[in-house]
Amino acid sequence: SSGLFLGKQYESTAAASVASDPPVQKYEYQAEVSRLMDLIVNSLYSNKEVFFRELISNASDALDKLRFLSVTDPELLKDAVDLDIRVQTDKDNGTITITDTGIGMTRQELVDCLGTIAQSGTAKFLKAVKDSKGAGADNNLIGQFGVGFYSAFLVSDRVVVSTKSPKSDKQYVWEGKANASSYTIREETDPEKLIPRGTCLTLYMKRDDKGFAHPERIQKLVKNYSQFVSFPIYTWQEKG
Ligand code: ADP
Ligand code: MG
Repeated sequence: SSGLFLGKQYESTAAASVASDPPVQKYEYQAEVSRLMDLIVNSLYSNKEVFFRELISNASDALDKLRFLSVTDPELLKDAVDLDIRVQTDKDNGTITITDTGIGMTRQELVDCLGTIAQSGTAKFLKAVKDSKGAGADNNLIGQFGVGFYSAFLVSDRVVVSTKSPKSDKQYVWEGKANASSYTIREETDPEKLIPRGTCLTLYMKRDDKGFAHPERIQKLVKNYSQFVSFPIYTWQEKG
């Protein structure tokens, strides 16, 4: 099974799984991603709400890509006509879910995008951290460069990304934990979690950051950032 994936692939550890269980594949992060994750998880960076800006901008980018491709291929829109972003909070469970109807990711794209550093800005960030001297320098650098998707780990213990690309029949789930050197990918099989197209990202907030999972808090963040996003952002909350 070598050569198929960029990430290092392991046998599923779910040896006792029954036949109907989807295989869970484990991948090791590229070394640079591990370093970045360490920096983020252990940072004392206090402006944690940047996670929201980063994830909303990824959702917006994904919608832009879909919209662009749909100009020449209108069929792409048939699975989900509306191009929008939905943000759901569950304060009892301390989760935030961000869903977009954008371009989504194939299994290989999950490995390429969320397991390796393809982004030059992040590579520059790591170099700047390496070159900088003194404790806390990386905190300023996080704010200066932005750390993209991985900023989710400023506030989350666990991140689950369920995504469906128009290029694939299947929907895949990427799952990563703070302080882990590996992540997993499996096929989405829960019928309640199937989406027609796009990405649904769930953040399991750290104990001290559960306050973000309140509708009022998220609505405030949405208000701050929605002016920079050309797609509607809807918020709603669990009944409780
Ligand atoms: P950047 O946005 O600068 O490329 P990120 O770390 O924020 O870097 O994201 C890495 C990549 O992961 C993106 O370039 C994109 O390919 C993919 N990605 C992240 N979020 C989404 C999403 N919601 N939908 C589709 N692709 C995404
Ligand atoms: Mg980004």
